[in-house]
Amino acid sequence: MKPFIYDLTLEELQDWAKNNGEPAFRGGQIFDWLYVKRVNDFSEMTNLSKGLREKLAEQFSFVTLHEITKLESKDGTVKFLFGLHDDHAIETVIMRHNYGNSICVTTQVGCRIGCTFCASTLGGLKRNLTAGEITAQVVQAQKILDKTNERVSSIVIMGSGEPFENYEATMTFLRTMIHEKGLNIGQRHITVSTSGIVPNIYKFADEDTQINLAISIHAPNDALRSKLMPVNRRYPFNDVMDALRYYLAKTGRRISFEYALIGGVNDQAEHAEELADVLKDMLCHVNLIPVNHVPERKYVRTSRSDIFNFQRILADKGINVTIRREQGHDIAAACGQLRAKHMELG
Ligand code: SF4
Repeated sequence: MKPFIYDLTLEELQDWAKNNGEPAFRGGQIFDWLYVKRVNDFSEMTNLSKGLREKLAEQFSFVTLHEITKLESKDGTVKFLFGLHDDHAIETVIMRHNYGNSICVTTQVGCRIGCTFCASTLGGLKRNLTAGEITAQVVQAQKILDKTNERVSSIVIMGSGEPFENYEATMTFLRTMIHEKGLNIGQRHITVSTSGIVPNIYKFADEDTQINLAISIHAPNDALRSKLMPVNRRYPFNDVMDALRYYLAKTGRRISFEYALIGGVNDQAEHAEELADVLKDMLCHVNLIPVNHVPERKYVRTSRSDIFNFQRILADKGINVTIRREQGHDIAAACGQLRAKHMELG
């Protein structure tokens, strides 16, 4: 199997050009064809010699994401189930906001983290995506948006998988996305979300980027978090908090906490009080997400009054908090639901 051309950063394409007896700027030309002109084949790269195009085709392939399912929500959200070359399937979502179009990408086929409210983890982890396979999701979304002269303005790495367990590929993907000679997505418009893989929170803090970090926290203490997220036994709550304090000290960037509200489990006033105490000195924002019903689990949604009560308790204690606007609710847009359905049928 040949590597994917999208796996390479601009610098790696320049090195490849040099190693093949060409000036480095040929690497830049290839990058331009991939991310600005967004061609589908090496033969379309017409400012390269025929010989060079053939060499590229011999050594690399394009990622093919074939559309298995496309679901469109009334709110404009479009969810894709894409088939990969090895018959695995991944989900990618285009979300429309009043401030632009956001793409939610997947970093792994399945996930081994085991969060109890998440459909992505039901079949375990199948494999990591390569950087190019993550990149291809955004390029494909941009090609779709090209038809209406729109652009991808932000990216959230919140699809299936734990990006910090596929760290290098995720970072390579990010370097390509933010490059000013490519898609040029603003770093502050990208958010990477982790369940709390502690060593890589430290690593990410040291990367010196402006990319946002979100943490799936979902509980205000160790015991409850371990029940909802087995990863908490590997990286306990307090260790995650220490890593986040390091991140804050290093970057000065506000952290987002994702908190899925599950009826009767983690959504009571006492949980909100405890969470507020834990977060009180942190530069952060809490995103409350009323949990989606996962038929395989017995979770129920938090009532509207409890959602607002939870929000009010946090806000009264000075925590910056919002309730996430649900998108694509009518098309099973929550992480992993479409793929889970596909696996059942397949
Ligand atoms: S929420 Fe994210 S980390 Fe947790 S199981 Fe689902 S995909 Fe994995």
